[in-house]
Amino acid sequence: MQAFQLVEWQQPPVLRDVPVPEPGPGEVLVKVGGAGACHSDLHLMEWPAGFLPYELPFTLGHENAGWIEALGPGVKGWEVGEAVAVYGPWGCGRCRPCRTGLETLCERAAQLGAAGGGLGRNGGMAEYMLVPDPRLLVPLGDLDPRDAAPLSDAALTPYHAIKLALHQLVPGTSAVVIGVGGLGHMAVQILRALTPARVIATDVDAAKLALAVDVGADHAIEAGEDAAAEIRELTGGIGATLVLDCVGSNSTLTLDTQVVAKGGAVMVVGVAGGTLEYRFNTLPSDASLTHPYWGSIVELGEVLELARAGRITPHAERFPLERVADAYERMQSGTLSGRAVITP
Ligand code: NAD
Ligand code: ZN
Ligand code: ZN
Repeated sequence: MQAFQLVEWQQPPVLRDVPVPEPGPGEVLVKVGGAGACHSDLHLMEWPAGFLPYELPFTLGHENAGWIEALGPGVKGWEVGEAVAVYGPWGCGRCRPCRTGLETLCERAAQLGAAGGGLGRNGGMAEYMLVPDPRLLVPLGDLDPRDAAPLSDAALTPYHAIKLALHQLVPGTSAVVIGVGGLGHMAVQILRALTPARVIATDVDAAKLALAVDVGADHAIEAGEDAAAEIRELTGGIGATLVLDCVGSNSTLTLDTQVVAKGGAVMVVGVAGGTLEYRFNTLPSDASLTHPYWGSIVELGEVLELARAGRITPHAERFPLERVADAYERMQSGTLSGRAVITP
C-alpha cells in the first residue's frame, strides 16, 4: 500500500510503498476512511532533527477514523467492519492520567518516545493503520469515518480547552477564537453548542471570517492592529472570559493578553512558536494562561455525541492519497476552508 511518510527531518514527506501491516496479539487493523491534515504536521515537517524524540520514518496522519479490517489474536468485543474513531494520543495505558482517559498526560511518555500514530508511529495517511490496542478506539455509530476524522483532533482539542473554562462561560460573557482554520471552525461550533457566551472570531483571512460567521460566530474581526480595540469594544470594555488562541504566534499571544478579561482564561493551543514576555501586569488580575494539549478519550466520546446530535459538523475538503501534498500546500497558503481530509 502507499503511505505518506516523513523520511527525513526538514524534508518534504513522500508517498512510499510499504507492506500492509498484520495485526499482532492485542492489535487492531483499521481501514482508513479519513485522515485529517493538521497544521501540526506542517510544524513537524519544519522542525529540525532532535526537536522531537520520534524515530523516522513514520506515516503521517494523527486524526483518523475508519472501519475495523481485522482483529489481532485475543481482541474481543469488536466487529470487523465496525466504524471507529482512533484516539490519537497513545500513552502507556497504565499510569494514573492514562487510566483517567488522558493519555496526553502519560507519565511514561518519555520512555515511549512516540506520541501516537502519525506522531512517531505509523498514522492514517495510508490505506490501513495498525492500532496497538482496542482501548484507543471509539465506536462511531452511524457517523461516516470520512466526515468524522476531524472530530478526533480539530474538534477534540478545542473541546478539551473549552471544557477547562466551561464553568466561567456564563450568560453575558464572551469567548474569542483566534484563527478559524481546522481547529477554530470547530471551536466556534463547540462554544455555541456548550455555552451561552458571545462568540467573537478573528483571522487574517476574509474567507475564514466568512466561515466563522457561517458556523455560528456572533462577530468576525479581521486580525491586525485594530483587533484588540474592536474586541474590547464588543465586550463592553470588559474583555473575553475565554481567549482560545489557535495560532500561538508573537502577534496572537500579544492579542491574547490585550483582550482577556480579569479572571479570564487564555488557552493557547496553537504552536506557531511565538514568545510572550511575562511581567506582573502582562495579564489582568486573576487571569490564567494555559497550553492545553489535545483531549481525553472520554472527551472524544462526548465530541462524537455532539456530532451525532448534529450540533457540530466539520467542514472538510476531501483529497485522495495521491494528492495529499496538495492538501498541505493549500493549508500552508491559507486557501483551505475548514479541514483537509485525506480519503485513502
Ligand atoms: P489551520 O492552518 O487550519 O488554521 C490556522 C488559522 O489561523 C488559519 O485560518 C489562518 O488564517 C489563521 N491565522 C494565521 N495567523 C493568524 C493571525 N496572526 N491571527 C489570526 N488568525 C491567524 O491550523 P489548525 O490545524 O487549525 O491548527 C492550528 C494550530 O493549533 C497549529 O499551530 C497546530 O499545530 C496547533 N494544534 C495544537 C494542538 C494541541 O493539542 N495543542 C492540536 C492540534 C493543532
Ligand atoms: Zn493535530
Ligand atoms: Zn500512561
